[in-house]
Amino acid sequence: MRREAVTKTQKSAPLFDRLALIGVGLIGSSIARAARAQGVVREIVAVSRSPATRRRVAELGLADTVAETNAAAVAGADLVIVCVPVGACGEVAREIGPHLRSGATVSDVGSVKGAIVRAMGPHLPEGVHFVPAHPVAGTEHSGPDAGFAELFVGRWCILTPPEGTAPAAVERLAAFWRALGANVESMPAAHHDLVLAITSHLPHLIAYTIVGTADELAEVTRSEVLKFSAGGFRDFTRIAASDPTMWRDVFLANKDAVLEMLGTFDEDLAKLTRAIRRGDGKALFEHFARTRAIRRGIVDIGQDSPAPDFGRSHAELAPLPRPYAASSDD
Ligand code: NAP
Repeated sequence: MRREAVTKTQKSAPLFDRLALIGVGLIGSSIARAARAQGVVREIVAVSRSPATRRRVAELGLADTVAETNAAAVAGADLVIVCVPVGACGEVAREIGPHLRSGATVSDVGSVKGAIVRAMGPHLPEGVHFVPAHPVAGTEHSGPDAGFAELFVGRWCILTPPEGTAPAAVERLAAFWRALGANVESMPAAHHDLVLAITSHLPHLIAYTIVGTADELAEVTRSEVLKFSAGGFRDFTRIAASDPTMWRDVFLANKDAVLEMLGTFDEDLAKLTRAIRRGDGKALFEHFARTRAIRRGIVDIGQDSPAPDFGRSHAELAPLPRPYAASSDD
């Protein structure tokens, strides 16, 4: 298995002349903002499916040119990044294939890699470098207004170049992502899909499940679920607010790896269920102590804030009403 950490380099002259972004939502618009801020491309051409998003991209000044079609957007581009839902990437590749410049690099940002390699690869002509990528960074918000230049800073971007991809093309794209602040690692697409199934896809499935279950519980009213959500539920609601189209596509495209991880998860859930049923406090305590250490590890490597309650700001204590308050007259 090929897995290498790529070290950070200094910001330098533009790495690419013309970046074409197909899809300008959270991820596409964040790439546009960061690439502009870092000066890593000379020119940005953007396109989005809907006239409304194209208009908004122009209003926000996210690109030098807003193209009307995918084919027009990629003409002359030496870097093309497809930033649309996983299920739409194959069709986009089919459209742009005949219009790509020889020597161009084509990449994407999809959260699943094996399915994208299979869907896009066959449409890309000889002489074009295909370097699929997944920036492991995001929020629950969508659309061109949701993006920000710092989204990728300190986050990982995983490259999954198919066997035989020119190393220089891979390294150039790695340099692009490092310039946007990301740490870059390369691995085979199948390995990516297995790792992300447990670190991202399963947690989203659990959040979608638990939020749906709480909503449907007859004996707990909807207002009580919302009112007492700080007990843990609200942290799941953030994940469960993620884009439905994106996540539908992720589960359809990474079916095998997700089902494999779900099998393991079911077994572990059964173990905890048994411990609760038997009143086995030792088993519960040991399990929770192990998971707490995992959280500390994530904070230690800088992948989350050590601030309590995920760094949320908290309300001030209100002054006590008169009969309870200590004052200088008492
Ligand atoms: P987003 O904010 O919803 O933006 C989606 C973009 O894709 C929009 O430009 C939209 O165009 C376009 N689009 C939607 N459906 C399409 C279709 N059927 N055909 C062509 N274009 C279509 O989404 P996003 O969060 O940026 O996600 C984009 C990609 O990034 C996905 O593949 C996702 O897996 C990946 N990703 C997301 C995250 C995250 O946290 N959100 C993190 C890492 C990777 P219109 O607005 O014009 O309709």
